[in-house]
Amino acid sequence: MLKDLFIGLSQNEFLNTAAKKYGLKLGAQNVVAGTNLDEAIQSIKELNAHGISCTVDNLGEFVYKKEEAAEAKKQIIEVIEAIHTNQVDAHISLKPSQLGLDIDYVFCLENVKEIVDRASKYDIFVNMDMEDSKRLQPSFDILDELSGMYDNLGTVIQAYFFDAKDDLKKYKDCRLRIVKGAYKEPEEIAYQDKIDIDRNFIKLIEWHLLNGKFTSIATHDHKVINYVKDFVSVNNISKEKFEFQMLYGFRKDMQLRLAKEGYNFCTYVPFGNDWYGYFMRRLAERPQNLNLVAKQVFNKKTNTMLGVAAGAFLLGRLTKQHKNK
Ligand SMILES: Cc1cc2nc3c(=O)[nH]c(=O)nc-3n(C[C@H](O)[C@H](O)[C@H](O)COP(=O)(O)OP(=O)(O)OC[C@H]3O[C@@H](n4cnc5c(N)ncnc54)[C@H](O)[C@@H]3O)c2cc1C
Repeated sequence: MLKDLFIGLSQNEFLNTAAKKYGLKLGAQNVVAGTNLDEAIQSIKELNAHGISCTVDNLGEFVYKKEEAAEAKKQIIEVIEAIHTNQVDAHISLKPSQLGLDIDYVFCLENVKEIVDRASKYDIFVNMDMEDSKRLQPSFDILDELSGMYDNLGTVIQAYFFDAKDDLKKYKDCRLRIVKGAYKEPEEIAYQDKIDIDRNFIKLIEWHLLNGKFTSIATHDHKVINYVKDFVSVNNISKEKFEFQMLYGFRKDMQLRLAKEGYNFCTYVPFGNDWYGYFMRRLAERPQNLNLVAKQVFNKKTNTMLGVAAGAFLLGRLTKQHKNK
């Protein structure tokens, strides 16, 4: 129920727009590395100093106007230039919906191409994040179109999908990030129980470590991380073939420890004003993350916003249930 609430809130256009106006609030500043590029570069330098590389997400999603998508492309290219100029150890994560996937496929393809092209000049990798199932196939289509031309593009495989193994096999020669999956998906196409998702997650990681190019294991789950450590050791898999990834601000001690132990470690560094959808998904994943919000509850403005948000969502659900009856 709580998960559904926050996933629902994450897709609310009105709240997304309102949140942008208020800057980093609701505790989001703990898990978002600032609102501008300078702040993000500073965070990256600090992480690099601990031997941690970064993947940078100039936050943005669910863009419905071409001008917004063009602006997002421009900003991502600025991030690429800043990575190069500052010589930091970082690459790019982007979302197809941020670059116009919901407006026009060809327009989005051209935007992604321009970004990948610029990044390739500096040998910077670009990861295409995976969003919900509606955007899955068009995102793979973009990868199909561009991977023949560029070798610096990869994507994400979400373990909650029944078909994830087929996609993993198809894209085994790409650098892939494997995750459990962050969106609410229908039971016809995706596992719903955590136990099934976790089991599939492990299977996919094992397969790609043995057969694939480079594997990014993106999780905060210590049980999975410990399992992988044993698995690579038993199977003699070189540390060069994989990395662990976690999100900025989560399990900081473990991030530092894994880097210190000599594992490749990469932190996902989101920044910018469009933090709302990203932050709501983090709350959906783990109710304990609400303690990030709790610290802000005496902030009147955010309190009101959360109240309105929860009220609007619950009202929407009740109306829908009533109509369905
Ligand atoms: C770098 C990165 C990139 C991602 N990219 C995508 C993407 O492109 N598309 C997508 O759909 N999803 C993406 N995700 C989100 C992912 O799909 C999961 O929703 C998210 O990572 C939560 O699952 P988990 O594996 O971290 O652990 P969970 O299943 O949430 O937690 C498992 C266990 O780990 C422990 N744990 C988890 N978090 C914490 C914490 N903060 N502190 C202490 N203990 C904790 C707890 O014991 C918990 O029971 C990404 C995640 C990461 C880390």
